Amino acid sequence: MSGGNSELTSLHDQGLPQEIKFCKRCVVSNQRPSSTVEFKNQNKKETIFFDENGICSACQYHELKYNEIDWDDRRQQLEMLLDRHRRTDGSYDVIVPGSGGKDSMFVSHVLKYKYGMNPLTVTWPPHMYTEIGLRNFEAWLDGGYDNISFHPNRRVHRMLTRMAFVNLLHPFQPFILGQKQIGPKMALKYNVNLVMYGESQAEGGTNISEAFEPKMNPKYYSIPREEQKNIYLSGYVYQELLDQGLDEGDLQPYTPVALEDIKEKNVEVHHMGFYEKWRPQEKYYYAVENCGFLPNPDRTEGTYSKYNSLDDKADGFHYYTTYIKFGLGRATYESAQEVRNRHLTREEAIALIHRYDGEFPRKYFNEFLEYIEIDEDMFWQVINRFRSPLLWHMVGNKWELRHVVE
Ligand SMILES: [Zn+2]
Repeated sequence: MSGGNSELTSLHDQGLPQEIKFCKRCVVSNQRPSSTVEFKNQNKKETIFFDENGICSACQYHELKYNEIDWDDRRQQLEMLLDRHRRTDGSYDVIVPGSGGKDSMFVSHVLKYKYGMNPLTVTWPPHMYTEIGLRNFEAWLDGGYDNISFHPNRRVHRMLTRMAFVNLLHPFQPFILGQKQIGPKMALKYNVNLVMYGESQAEGGTNISEAFEPKMNPKYYSIPREEQKNIYLSGYVYQELLDQGLDEGDLQPYTPVALEDIKEKNVEVHHMGFYEKWRPQEKYYYAVENCGFLPNPDRTEGTYSKYNSLDDKADGFHYYTTYIKFGLGRATYESAQEVRNRHLTREEAIALIHRYDGEFPRKYFNEFLEYIEIDEDMFWQVINRFRSPLLWHMVGNKWELRHVVE
């Protein structure tokens, strides 16, 4: 397997805006990309966007969320949707994808115990479960749900993760691709027409049209059948992956479902965040009180919180790579969301970012290196190869960000 990419000089060019701006209301910058299915040579990334007053699209959505959207009306829309899908013959009527984090616990609990649905929970498991993650996953199922966990071929998954790290500095790309499709794929398999995710993509500002559209745009989880073999995975197109020694069966779990099948079987993918005023902290309290969710005993590295994305030993490396590529670490992502939801002021968020953003996830470093089969030297070579000169410069013998939110 070759781990390299011949275009080393352009590796830091992520196709992001050249002039770095921070939102005047929260703390995110215009470097944050969105996450559609990727194709090769897509030279300009879709990012969140800023209005003429310097306010990001996530904050624009929160303006609607707190001041415009009629949430009673949305709740009625949810009841109508569920009435349309509810089955009384014992078969599953809604798919809830998740891993036993606070969001999937909340969604499945409400659907089953408040609305009388019969959910099938489905899981694309973490690369490496943490102890607390596995414990929360079991607590989730103790709440009374059937679950199908799809474990992709571990040899293939590690290989793709390694290549995604080396070629894209995006070790989570194969995971995310699989996770996005597990819901619709299982819906097709089990003849269920409704899939319910948690937070809508409008929350983070990467797709604010979801503020007005209950159904998720199929482009986020499916592609026309004739395009299925044009996917870009781990830095390679489909044919190149076959040339690396993988076969079509190996790639099947990562291949988006065919749009034609979604249409023919009337599968609808929705977000609970469309129907309910989504505040992450409230979901956390709900999951603790009703579903046996436990936060981490310790603060999560790279941020100040204890309850977001706890289940994968590799999580910290996802945020560390976004810090290198976009200048946005875990404390930025989390505090930006809390500013928008009025749990933190912008000043408090900035202080937390200065303190924690970019903190190296040391706890599981050796396990991560072992998982992707590279040594520490190579790890840092790859990291440094992706530092854009727009974002980074050397001060003395240390790398520093040129632009930090102030
Ligand atoms: Zn903002």
